[in-house]
Amino acid sequence: MNMEFGGATIDTIDLKALVVSRGVNVSNRIYKKFSGQVRLSANPLECNTIILPDNTIVQLTDLSFHMDYIKSAISWDTLKQLKYFSQIKTPFRLDLDEADLPALYFKNQKLTNVAFPRLTDFYKQKTSSGIPYLGNAVLQGTQWLSFQLLWKCDYAIAGDPCQYCYSGGELDHLTRRKKELPVYPSPEDIAEIVEYAVIKEGYVDSIQITGGSTFNVQAECDRITAILDAINLRVGRANIPGEILIYTTPPKNPQMVDQLFEAGADRISMSLEIWDEELARKIMPGKTKFTGRQRHLDALEYVALKHGKGKACSNFIIGLEPADSLLEGANYLASRGIVPIASVWIPFGRPVLGSMKAPDLGYYQKIKNGLSDIYCKYGLIPPGGKGLNVCMCRDIYLQNQKEGID
Ligand code: SF4
Repeated sequence: MNMEFGGATIDTIDLKALVVSRGVNVSNRIYKKFSGQVRLSANPLECNTIILPDNTIVQLTDLSFHMDYIKSAISWDTLKQLKYFSQIKTPFRLDLDEADLPALYFKNQKLTNVAFPRLTDFYKQKTSSGIPYLGNAVLQGTQWLSFQLLWKCDYAIAGDPCQYCYSGGELDHLTRRKKELPVYPSPEDIAEIVEYAVIKEGYVDSIQITGGSTFNVQAECDRITAILDAINLRVGRANIPGEILIYTTPPKNPQMVDQLFEAGADRISMSLEIWDEELARKIMPGKTKFTGRQRHLDALEYVALKHGKGKACSNFIIGLEPADSLLEGANYLASRGIVPIASVWIPFGRPVLGSMKAPDLGYYQKIKNGLSDIYCKYGLIPPGGKGLNVCMCRDIYLQNQKEGID
């Protein structure tokens, strides 16, 4: 599905990258008409989704509510960041069209109609121990339950958070001020949330488990195993029809991750995020200092060799480094059977290298075409089912399939 955009022709993956990285101004008419009818909320913690006509899933960040949230949540840094806020403007609007249907606009030009996922009571729930689902887990697209940060990040607490990471920045701030750290859900809480989303509401079929980077990777693997065991006990792995994708810190001894596969993980991502080593050092001081590229590569190659092609993944953040270096890294990994995941950088959380400015269309198109070639060349299938909110990788793979070039 192609459309005209500022004198260029774009497809829905290009549009997704632009919308995810720039956010949208959502009209009150949309909230008035659809609140309580579909999954749509003014609360940024609910991770809204819009669905394009070819079923591409897109993160919907209402920029005005998001900026209010950021200003209140990061009062510690607001003053420092205010100078960047002028870089945050979006040309995208979500409003009702002439037929009273929801539509995405670029300035005043209608680009396409959109749909929303079905209504859910997920965000109203609390676990039996009193942990709210809101703020601990999100529904992404129509298939994924994602836990954002299930354990603390030691690198952030040590004063070396990644510049782009909102949770890491928050932990760094709390530690510096000697304030209490957040309470993380227990394995039983997590299993209860999974049961609700997968079985009770039948809303999702796949699960993403993520936490911070830790100094004690054996303890991290043990915690993930305890989470998977609790899910298995309460829900049963056989009752989760999709994938379980784990994001973890690469251990010095890569054999440590074997236990995660034994406990039910389908794939393990140990994410490099940035291939250019000089930029990685500046943007991710903790990851560079405490783990570094080689440890990632050793662990990823171990998983690919021991557990098979496509079982190891590594995320790249689309927008933080030149397209050529990112694609060089993606090709390096893919040639070893490791899947490059591609998530679009959302600049309106924290500035990176003093900027909150997203790349332009040509950059995203170069990444899209490069990854499309890489997935075809090495026969790799990125995770994601029908698609995730901010990742382009699965959309690229699905588009290849549609065009018969996989
Ligand atoms: S290591 Fe991970 S959790 Fe920690 S600051 Fe970086 S991105 Fe955030």
